[in-house]
Amino acid sequence: MKLWSKYHIPTSVEEALALLASYQGQARLVAGGTDLLIEMQQASHVLTTLIDVTKIPELRVQELDGDSLILGAGVTHSQIVQNSVLQTRATCLVESCGVVGGPQVRNVATIGGNVAHALPAADGTISLITLGAQAEVASSNGRRWYDLHDLFLGAGKSLVDSTRQMITRFRVPLSRHREASAFERIMRPQGVALPVLGCAARVRLDDQGRFEEVSLCLAPVAPTPIRAEAVEKWLVGRPAQEASILEGARLARQTLHPRTSKYRATAAYREEMIELLTRRSLSAALERAEGSVL
Ligand SMILES: Cc1cc2nc3c(=O)[nH]c(=O)nc-3n(C[C@H](O)[C@H](O)[C@H](O)COP(=O)(O)OP(=O)(O)OC[C@H]3O[C@@H](n4cnc5c(N)ncnc54)[C@H](O)[C@@H]3O)c2cc1C
Repeated sequence: MKLWSKYHIPTSVEEALALLASYQGQARLVAGGTDLLIEMQQASHVLTTLIDVTKIPELRVQELDGDSLILGAGVTHSQIVQNSVLQTRATCLVESCGVVGGPQVRNVATIGGNVAHALPAADGTISLITLGAQAEVASSNGRRWYDLHDLFLGAGKSLVDSTRQMITRFRVPLSRHREASAFERIMRPQGVALPVLGCAARVRLDDQGRFEEVSLCLAPVAPTPIRAEAVEKWLVGRPAQEASILEGARLARQTLHPRTSKYRATAAYREEMIELLTRRSLSAALERAEGSVL
């Protein structure tokens, strides 16, 4: 079955936006196609036009900008995994992109598609939120930066309308001295690869060996990726030690309430995993931060 009738391959953001505007909501952006094509197949409806963004050089950038890395929305998960700056200074992002699908998926699937699709279990997204990343959204009205978390309106619902707007790039803050991050995930190994839970943690330590800053994002726990704010606040100022982490992980379990999903796991099991993955990701981030000499 033919899934679309027209396919355009623009080479600039402006050209892509002009094409979207000319189709008045009847065309959609496509990058790796790993989410969109399955969605189109399952919906078995013909979307008239696809605008392929993979030949736009601006969407492929990976460049340093002070203490941040500018990451084009069209960068693939495999390219993120291979980026040596991200490996050392945005480790949770590399770890989460490294477990997306298999190598074939990672070689074509993009970080922009992962964010724009707005599924709460999207692995790269969880880490970008933990790192405090921002996304630049381009439309016919110009370009604007958003805090990443603000793009998520519900399960599969994004503030970005991919029939009229485009995510062009992300600004990813990089870890500094005594700061590091880690990502942990648990999923069902059999059948459809559905994650049960993903958790990304970022910690920064002060000179007295206390947590100066903590950021934790977990999903899927709610319709959008969720920050464990109660845990973050509780840990700041506490000794950066395993005892604080154990207490923080217990608090995560008490304050986050996943529901039972017949495809993923029971609520009780997922609550237990919240405690486990929070503990593991915080411990790994702490160990890295203690060894960080940036
Ligand atoms: C077998 C398989 C396994 C998978 N495993 C995982 C997994 O483990 N973890 C995980 O997180 N995901 C997984 N996925 C989902 C998917 O691969 C990722 O979400 C991927 O990052 C989507 O990127 P893409 O480039 O393929 O997006 P596409 O499918 O091209 O697009 C997805 C959506 O984003 C929009 N879009 C794309 N680019 C832009 C842009 N620049 N601006 C605005 N809108 C845009 C499209 O219009 C569409 O609505 C898996 C998929 C498959 C098929």
